[in-house]
Amino acid sequence: MAEAQEINISNQAREFLDSNHQLLINGEWVASKSGDKIAVIDPATEEQISEVDAGNAEDINDAVAAARSALTGEWSKIPSHDRAQILNKLADEIEMNFDVLSELEVLDNGMPMPLAQYSIASHGTALLRYYASWATKIHGSTIPVSPGGAMNGESITYTRREPIGVVGAIIPWNSPLIFAILKLTPALAAGCTVILKPAELTPMTALFLGELIRNSGIPKGVVNIVTGYGETAGAALTEHHDVDKIAFTGSTEVGKKIVEASIGNLKKVTLELGGKSPVVVFPDADLEKVIPGAARACFFLQGQNCMAGTRLFVHKDIYEPVLAGVKEMAEAFTIGHGLIPTNDFGPLISATQKKRVMEYIQIGKDEGADLLSGGESVGDKGYFVQPTIFSNVKGDMRIAREEIFGPVLCAESFDDSDLETIANKANNTSYGLSGSVWTQDISVAHKMAMLIDSGQVSINCHAAVDPAIPFGGNKQSGWGREFGKEGLEPYLKTKATTVIF
Ligand code: ADP
Repeated sequence: MAEAQEINISNQAREFLDSNHQLLINGEWVASKSGDKIAVIDPATEEQISEVDAGNAEDINDAVAAARSALTGEWSKIPSHDRAQILNKLADEIEMNFDVLSELEVLDNGMPMPLAQYSIASHGTALLRYYASWATKIHGSTIPVSPGGAMNGESITYTRREPIGVVGAIIPWNSPLIFAILKLTPALAAGCTVILKPAELTPMTALFLGELIRNSGIPKGVVNIVTGYGETAGAALTEHHDVDKIAFTGSTEVGKKIVEASIGNLKKVTLELGGKSPVVVFPDADLEKVIPGAARACFFLQGQNCMAGTRLFVHKDIYEPVLAGVKEMAEAFTIGHGLIPTNDFGPLISATQKKRVMEYIQIGKDEGADLLSGGESVGDKGYFVQPTIFSNVKGDMRIAREEIFGPVLCAESFDDSDLETIANKANNTSYGLSGSVWTQDISVAHKMAMLIDSGQVSINCHAAVDPAIPFGGNKQSGWGREFGKEGLEPYLKTKATTVIF
């Protein structure tokens, strides 16, 4: 880790952090009913950088009432091309505030600055513009039928796509702004109204976004933002009988609670949950691409990434050079505060997360995996943990099966030639979110991609993300898909109307 480094925070970011943060309900900033606050901590310094309101069930009630009333108000009458324009205006606002948003994201989450900039530019504004263009392309169809009682040719049936209604969006801390945008944009394109509940650990960019939303022409009550804890504000949102849909990203454990809480009014639920994704490397793979690809697949966002390629399966003929290369890359990361431009590896999000990761590293050692690199926490301040590589990991070890959500790579070699046997190893997990296959052989690549039981498989890259590429999990990695046209569908319902002449 670099020596203690001076952190410079811009005046604009400082002013925002120091300002009074409230809840966005019905277009106004209002204080939480309880008056309780949540301290916001910079995970790289462990210092408090701000505080926000802790909303509770009463605040959620107000936000849901505002969203319900906005659903049938002005918002429902706005032509779709105007909805598109509003989303594009919000993208413009984000572009105008790109520097401060990136800075706040780094301070709040700990990610390195280039990553914050890349994610906001390539996923944030791109998502808004992508779904803005969908807003004008939502329509039903006509169906040639002759239902009971109608004479041939004397009836017509058409479908309308209607907004699903009031959406509760609950998001995690690992990429806070992008998740806020990912939840808001398809919902707004579809004509829904939203209550956004940011993660208690990272509320800052969602609150900044709230002000941009107020500037973008989105009518009052269409987007409400309630900061608060998961067990209070989050739970109240998922249990609420006037919420039509929950869109959630977070842990599988909380995802299951959300399903249970949603039963009361059978609200619709989409879940993007955990992962334990395989990276499968065949002997003919291009090592120049595999080595950085595998290192990034696991260590991107310090491994706090649901798509992370945390299980590395390498053919025995190239196991040694691949691991040596990944180790060299892992040890070359510069660990430190994300606002220092030369740092490319940040802290974990919290003391709890650091403790969890360190416990898993101990479990790996106890289970008999070989610690090839890392394994230690770093520095006295900040939740830093070294990129860590275990080799000779066996499929039944806990470090190979359970999601660690930290920078821990589990590598094992294979010498099978049968693709199904290799796929069985890759699929030996309760998750199924992402995965990648590395080979020059197009038949092997496509066959393996078909055999891997994940919502996303990339060939000679890992976790390809684009607004147009559907993303979501199989097995316990989730329900439904986000991004792309498929990501719009959960925000729409179909009404069939039949006219008998
Ligand atoms: P992570 O493990 O990544 O922290 P969590 O699943 O714990 O993710 O949290 C993701 C989001 O879910 C956060 O906004 C958190 O406040 C919220 N959350 C946590 N517990 C609940 C709950 N019981 N009901 C609804 N939301 C919750």
